[in-house]
Amino acid sequence: MTVLEAIQKSTEFLDKKKVESPRLQTELLLAHLLKMPRMKLYLNFDRALVVAETDALRELIKRRGLREPLQHIIGSTSFCGYEIAVNRLVLVPRPETEMLAELGWQYLNGAHGKAEGQSPDRLEDKPQKLADQAVGAPRVLDFCTGSGCIAIALAAKCPSASIVATDISAEALVLAQENAVKSGVAERIEFLQGDGLAALKAGLQFDLIVSNPPYIASAEIATLDPEVRDFDPRLALDGGADGLDFYRMLAKAAKMFLKPDGKIMLEFGDGQADGIKKFFEDEKWIVEAVQEDYSQRARILIARQ
Ligand code: GLN
Repeated sequence: MTVLEAIQKSTEFLDKKKVESPRLQTELLLAHLLKMPRMKLYLNFDRALVVAETDALRELIKRRGLREPLQHIIGSTSFCGYEIAVNRLVLVPRPETEMLAELGWQYLNGAHGKAEGQSPDRLEDKPQKLADQAVGAPRVLDFCTGSGCIAIALAAKCPSASIVATDISAEALVLAQENAVKSGVAERIEFLQGDGLAALKAGLQFDLIVSNPPYIASAEIATLDPEVRDFDPRLALDGGADGLDFYRMLAKAAKMFLKPDGKIMLEFGDGQADGIKKFFEDEKWIVEAVQEDYSQRARILIARQ
């Protein structure tokens, strides 16, 4: 079988299994298997696959057909350009969350981004200004860190920051720590296990609290795509009866961990903006912005005391 035939056959199979973007998924798996960039497949359409390669591809495609996420099969994903290993113990980092990380490092580095020559240009013409700069070596809390993706991106893009990353899952933190080591930022991230803010010692204060907490309503989890429902850990999805438990709690309790001029930035799900904004306003926060994602859906709340 040639590369092209393998792609066509596998695409058809994944399509029948109702996998989204079956051709792209096939190409990514085959490129992974053949250890070549996906675009290089196009130059190799006529190349014959050896038996070991077709066997291995069949195995990968079979797993994807059972709706195992591509990132689990490959074992990692890219987040803000950093390689993040994933497994069934952590949420697979989502592209939307890259925007939260980006808003975080823009704030930490000042509106024009001074870190390592990186210019966060993608958000440059967004309306809100994140000009107030956290002075000195900023301290950041990544609450519910999961794979560690946000903490790692912030540590990498803001070389003066020191970060505390918490999670209820000790197993998730093991993976997050390994990810931090691989990205070369482990010495500036302290990983703490605990339920909610109980992971933190009283008296700790941060310039920035970021979080993408679990926000799916418990009853909705059963209705999600199999890739999410069956492979992301329930702990990382379940936000309680209405999905908003973590925001309710943070609106009440996060202030004591925030410096007087600090900010909180929280990702949330579709349709949750108004409810979350109200929790924060009821607790006397100033909501500075509700940021939309690249599909024009309200996605991130930015607030201060
Ligand atoms: N902070 C991690 C992420 O954004 C994990 C989030 C979670 O487990 N809910 O991917």
